[in-house]
Amino acid sequence: MIISNRPCVLDPMKIKGPALTIVNENCNACQSCMNLGCPALTWGTDTFEGRHKVKIDASLCIGCTLCAQVCTVDCIKPTSPLTSTPVTQ
Ligand code: SF4
Ligand code: SF4
Repeated sequence: MIISNRPCVLDPMKIKGPALTIVNENCNACQSCMNLGCPALTWGTDTFEGRHKVKIDASLCIGCTLCAQVCTVDCIKPTSPLTSTPVTQ
């Protein structure tokens, strides 16, 4: 039996927007986003100061933007629907 105190992040009825992506070169591997426990966030192969950077599995991301809100360097961005590349400001 699973007891949850919040809605499942993968609930298909809760999709909020397009998948997000991480600007890899800007990620400092602070792990703040990983503390959310989102299954779409996984460790990447690249590292920063010995820590693994993070990547987003677009097939699992529902675009809730929680990870972008906690990112310490604002390197999590929405993907462009036409190019699937990060939208930069
Ligand atoms: S926006 Fe971030 S926290 Fe939300 S589902 Fe996608 S990867 Fe997970
Ligand atoms: S919060 Fe941002 S800088 Fe920190 S690990 Fe996640 S993507 Fe990288």
